[in-house]
Amino acid sequence: MGESKKQVGVLGLGRMGSALAGALLGAGHDVSVWNRSPLKAGPLLDRGARLAATPAEAASADVVISCLSTYDTQQPVLEAAAPAGRTLVNLTSGTPEQARGVAKWAASEGVEYVDGVIMAVPQGIGTPGARILYSGSAAAFDAQRDVLPVLGEPVFLGEDAGLAALYDLALLGIMWSTMGGFLHALALVGTEGVTPSTFTPTALSWLSAVGGFLPGIGEQVASGDYETDVSALAINAAGLGLLEETSRGQGINPAVPAALRELFDRAVAAGHGAHAIASVIEEIR
Ligand code: NAP
Repeated sequence: MGESKKQVGVLGLGRMGSALAGALLGAGHDVSVWNRSPLKAGPLLDRGARLAATPAEAASADVVISCLSTYDTQQPVLEAAAPAGRTLVNLTSGTPEQARGVAKWAASEGVEYVDGVIMAVPQGIGTPGARILYSGSAAAFDAQRDVLPVLGEPVFLGEDAGLAALYDLALLGIMWSTMGGFLHALALVGTEGVTPSTFTPTALSWLSAVGGFLPGIGEQVASGDYETDVSALAINAAGLGLLEETSRGQGINPAVPAALRELFDRAVAAGHGAHAIASVIEEIR
């Protein structure tokens, strides 16, 4: 990271925007902040931030970072900010199409545009584990190498502004599926009095073994070769059936395994019973 300090405008001081502004202040940047509810700026002003009365005032900086709740709430703020000739780094979560829409608007306004997604919680911002994925203008991304690493490890994915949002949703899908599976497991073992603190260490070591399966699954998806001498899809579909039946028997909601069992059964019916689990992608695509 270079040593130069920049003027950074931050639009939005919710949990995440406040954490971003705090990390920028911590790195010595000159930070101006705007929020619909200005009282939230208090702790940042104590640390040296300047309060902007309008989005446009915050946007008269080298780079503008926006982190509002949704794209719908963000667009009027961006239009009021009118950051023509500056770089806009948009860290509001949305869909790839929404990101491409703002990129198009930015191009029409003469704004350099970088879209980003934050793979961290506010408390992680500025700590080594935090990663932020970016896409959009490579030149604008490169020009902000003094600023972006302060927030989290920056990873540039490509010039399609929608790519970061696509990765975000794909990665969150993995997180939500894992959490759904874990909550189902806790409910199931809980029917026999096993507590979360007893079960969680076993779940964690199993999760790390499951992580080891991912590269092989990825290779099979890439090649379309689903041959296996490890574990056939039909056996896994039957296992899901056992989990669903046991869940019902223990009196808990079987929705999590039932959704997967239906998908696996469809893949078996389509002729993939002897193939590897990777073949289920044929039913998802
Ligand atoms: P938050 O604490 O609820 O803050 C929401 C922000 O949006 C506040 O600044 C709020 O202003 C502003 N806002 C809402 N409606 C508005 C409107 N109509 N006009 C102007 N401003 C409006 O949310 P957050 O956790 O900071 O999340 C912000 C973004 O970061 C979201 O897109 C979220 O998906 C993303 N993100 C969050 C996390 C996380 O762990 N929190 C992780 C990754 C990504 P007021 O203060 O005036 O209400």
